[in-house]
Amino acid sequence: MRIGKILGIPIYLHSTWIIIFAANTYLLKEQFAQQPGWPPAKQWSVGILTSLLFFACLLFHELAHSVVAQHYKIRVLSITLFIFGGVASIERDPSKAIQEFNIAIAGPLASGFLAGFFLGLFVFFPSNGAVAVLSDWLWKTNLLLALFNLLPGFPLDGGRIFRAIIWGASKNFSKATRVAGTSGRLIAYAMILLGGFGVFKGVVVPGLWSIFIGFFLLNAAQESMAQAAIRETLTGLRAADVMSHEVPTVGRAISLEDYGAEVLRTGRRCHLVITDDRLVGMMNVHTLNSVPRGEWAHNSVQAVMIPRERILWATPDEPLLGLLERLLTADINQIPIVSGSDDGAAQIIGMVSRDSILRVMQTRAELGPLSVGAASK
Ligand SMILES: [Zn+2]
Repeated sequence: MRIGKILGIPIYLHSTWIIIFAANTYLLKEQFAQQPGWPPAKQWSVGILTSLLFFACLLFHELAHSVVAQHYKIRVLSITLFIFGGVASIERDPSKAIQEFNIAIAGPLASGFLAGFFLGLFVFFPSNGAVAVLSDWLWKTNLLLALFNLLPGFPLDGGRIFRAIIWGASKNFSKATRVAGTSGRLIAYAMILLGGFGVFKGVVVPGLWSIFIGFFLLNAAQESMAQAAIRETLTGLRAADVMSHEVPTVGRAISLEDYGAEVLRTGRRCHLVITDDRLVGMMNVHTLNSVPRGEWAHNSVQAVMIPRERILWATPDEPLLGLLERLLTADINQIPIVSGSDDGAAQIIGMVSRDSILRVMQTRAELGPLSVGAASK
């Protein structure tokens, strides 16, 4: 659910947020019930206000990361608040270790700042008043948040800081990700074990939380290590290395029925649509399937194809990793490779598909790092 836009960044609430908001508000209300002389209405309203402020604090934390990322010209795609806090997704990894360090540390610093701010309010306001009670909870929670996020395991902020330090020292991004990912997994296992021990000893709710967060971290650490592995496998490869030189074409006037028959006969899933040797569009199985079967006979390729101006292109020397990301972002399976010919006119020289990228990844994984090193020289 989109709730607004700050600094040009769309802010989303994940559906799990509602659960944690309700649970948090209820626990706060129970806690505030111990305040002498507070009627239930006051317990509830201060509880809701504290919960809202808590999520504003999470948002502030993510905005701190975002502002630094934007400073380095890295686009922030969105901020999502969900059950475990927030996540700011950025368009790409920082290109320098120092950038990653600064982006990562901004979050815990922001939470630390908020802890100081609410501690100040707590000290200056009368101790039984709403402001002091609410500030007391918020300064402790923000401090906890800052400290927890500083644990040196990926994908926590501390893990990113840790990765940036190793990356800066070793100049090896993949190795740094592996180390930070491994320590992230160790922290996750420790939280699961600790939580299990807690449940065993009767500390049930915090124990379950610890287990829950542990599994979440474990999953996230594994995912980011898998991404690093992909990045490593594709290093040094360009579009020209994996592209197929055959570029199947079809005429624009043929019916979808005939196009379907052509696809079934040849197994080729993507065609360029040509008229008088001129490119007018692109046609593929996905687009064909978007038309109900019964209408295939009455529609031509021209009517449903992706028009020329909406086709995405790549050049032969585009790095394969970036190309794969583009394919995934645009949710397309293949992309024509275009090179400028001598007379200046663009010419299609081949196609790269997701499959061909996957094949090279599989092969490289099979043959191991030795051949990867040799091939990238
Ligand atoms: Zn953070």
